[in-house]
This record gives sequence, C-alpha cells and structure tokens, in this order.
Amino acid sequence: MGIVVQKYGGSSLSDADAIKRVARRITEQKRAGNDVVVAVSAMGDSTDELLDLAEAVSPLPPARELDMLLTAGERISMALVAMAISDLGYTARSFTGSQAGVITDSVHGKAKIIDVTPGRIQSAIDDGHIVIVAGFQGVSQDTKEITTLGRGGTDTTAVALAAALNADVCEIYTDVDGVFTADPRIVPQAAKLDQVTYEEMLELAASGAKILHLRCVEYARRYNIPIHVRSSFSQLDGTLVTGSINDEGEEQMEAAIISGVAHDRSEAKITVVGVPDKIGEAARIFETLAEVAINIDMIVQNVSATDTGLTDISFTLTQSDGQVAMEALDRLKDEVGYEKLIFDHSIGKVSLVGAGMRSNPGVTAKFFKCLADAGVNIEMISTSEIRISVVCSEEQVDVAVAAAHTAFDLDSSEVEAVVYGGTGR
Ligand code: ASP
Ligand code: MG
Repeated sequence: MGIVVQKYGGSSLSDADAIKRVARRITEQKRAGNDVVVAVSAMGDSTDELLDLAEAVSPLPPARELDMLLTAGERISMALVAMAISDLGYTARSFTGSQAGVITDSVHGKAKIIDVTPGRIQSAIDDGHIVIVAGFQGVSQDTKEITTLGRGGTDTTAVALAAALNADVCEIYTDVDGVFTADPRIVPQAAKLDQVTYEEMLELAASGAKILHLRCVEYARRYNIPIHVRSSFSQLDGTLVTGSINDEGEEQMEAAIISGVAHDRSEAKITVVGVPDKIGEAARIFETLAEVAINIDMIVQNVSATDTGLTDISFTLTQSDGQVAMEALDRLKDEVGYEKLIFDHSIGKVSLVGAGMRSNPGVTAKFFKCLADAGVNIEMISTSEIRISVVCSEEQVDVAVAAAHTAFDLDSSEVEAVVYGGTGR
C-alpha cells in the first residue's frame, strides 16, 4: 500500500457527468488499497472564461485580484469532486492550495513553489480520507497572499505533492492517451511513446508540447518522481516519464533517434533593424529587455556587411510580452541609434527532440532538407544537445511538423491517437 497522486485536467472535469466519472476512477485506486491524493484543475475552459470576464471588467486587472479570481476555478472543481466521491460511499476532504501547504514566492500569476508542508493532507490521509487539492495555487511565504503558478500549473501542484508525500507515482490524467511523437491534432499518425526520459520531456515541453507543464517536469526530475501521463477516458497505459538519458536512456537511443516533433505558436519575433555594429550594443538591448523581465528564446544576429557598418538583431519571445518589449526598445532608440523595430506575431517554432541525435550525424541536414522539400522557409535556427528548433511562418507550422514526422519515420501505420475531450483552447 502506497500513496498515489493523481491530477485531472479541465477537459476531464468538463461537466457533472465528467466529475462523477473522475470520482469513480479515484475510488478505484482507493479500493485497490492505495491512499489517494488528487490535484484538480478548473472545469473545462473555465479559467479562460474567468480571464475573459476579468478583461471585460478591467483591461489591466491588478495581479493580486486576478489570482483571487482564477483560484476560484480550482476551488469549484475540488468541492464538486469531493461531493461526487462521498456519493460513492468514500470520504473525501478538499483543500485549497494554501490549506494543503503549497508555499510559493510572491510573484502573482507565475509564482514558484518553494516548499510544501503537507501536515493537513497527511492527517486527512491518516484518517482514511481521499484528499482533493485545488491545483495551480498556493500562498506566498512573505506576503501571505494567494498566488497562482501560471497556466497549466496544476501539473506542478501534483508533482510537488507527490514529492512532499513520497508518493510512488504521479499520474497525470488528460484527454489523450499519453505523450505522442507529435500533436495528434496535426499528425493523425502520431505514435504514443511508452517511455520518455526527463531530459527529452523537458525539451518537448519547452518546445511547445502542451501535454505537461515545463516546471512540473523539472520538479519531477529533481525529486526523481516518475510521471505516468494517461487518459482519464480510457484504461490504456500511457507514457512513463522517468530516467535519465545517461542511464536507462542508452537503449532508447539505439531504438529511436528522434522521440518527437513539437511546435509552438505562442511566440513572436522582434527585429531591431540597422543596429550599429559596435561592441556593447547587443548587451545594451538585452539588458533593457532583462530589466523589464522579458524572457528571450532564440536570437539571430549577422555580422554587418562591411560597407554599411550596420546589422540586424532578431529574437523571439512570448507573444504576450511583445508590447512591453517594444516599448522598452523604443525608449532605447536614440541611445543605440538603430533604424527601426519590426514586430511579427505570425511565426511558429518547430522542434525536433531526441537523445539519439547526440550520436547520430546528419539529423540537422535531414531536417532542413525535408522542410525545404515541403516548401517551408526557415527564418531562425537554434539547437541544444538533444534538440533542433526552427522558426517559420505560422501558416507553415502544420506542414513542417508533418514533414519532419514522416522524414524521421515516426508515422505509425495505424491511427493510434484519440483526442477524447477538450476544446484545445
Ligand atoms: N486551470 C489552470 C489553467 O487552465 C491551471 C491548469 O489547468 O493546470 O491554466
Ligand atoms: Mg486548464
């Protein structure tokens, strides 16, 4: 008998029937003799609906109040799931993030978990209850305010609870059967991965695969918590995220060079045109962006053509940071003496991820060739040891993903992927 931590996402909790179905699934684990702790997301698209509502009331709501509003979504879920469980003859106790001991820093909207003190959860377990925790939220250690962990944060809540409770496994229930070699909504022949290492999953998550929150994977790797990503709509085994490419990973490296193709449409590109090619200009530009807390993803700069002495610097960032970044750079115009700024939000990023590319030459050439054959123009390139990413126009993302998936023999002979729920919003 051990502790199992489960997480149910919004698409598994879309309405009353879905909540009852999830409650049955939770009690199955309890009946099997395990203690169960569950982190829940807000029902369906209700977080987006709350955001729309906030925007309708106030264009720039105070961050503290936005967190107060958004955490209500998960509180609705936790109470309803606990009610459904008690109808099945089991007792459940629901807790807000703060009651559950999820302690964070004080950054509203993207707080980081700094500690979990699961005293109340542990005593509820000891009293025989099933524990339901509102995901995506905590309480700040300094300010004592309620915080949220950023979109998709319930995954991180679940893994943090699993680590604090020494759970055997963290099961993340979602609306697809596991981690696929590409988004099945774009590539119907995407295949399910039985197992993937933390490192590969980190790269996939950072490259836009929405299946798991990046910080949840970082957390799981740090505390060595196996994550089982699976569907709440089927009984199939999903994908086990565990292990490092340095140990068990060796075998997988022989099996498949590439584990998946991820894509991301959430970034934008800014080009600073006509920057004087002098020492210190790039530093000044990126210092300015750092001061306004902008995270940069890819950067491209060419050496200037000798006759002009000018160069262009392009970089990508989260689209929603675009305005702040443009305003900050605008203030720098006279100081740096660049010509103009160009903002392009219609870009997409396509990434190839696989531990095997470290030891297999030619992956980059094959990737670029297949994109060229598909008529995809590459605007930017970046690489890590186990990833190659390109930026292309947003309309070409689907074509690029499909081309790479086929070129690296990832297409499955049958259609394995079923998207059970969710609006993909
Ligand atoms: N409900 C929050 C969101 O939609 C958190 C989560 O689903 O994990 O982002
Ligand atoms: Mg959600």
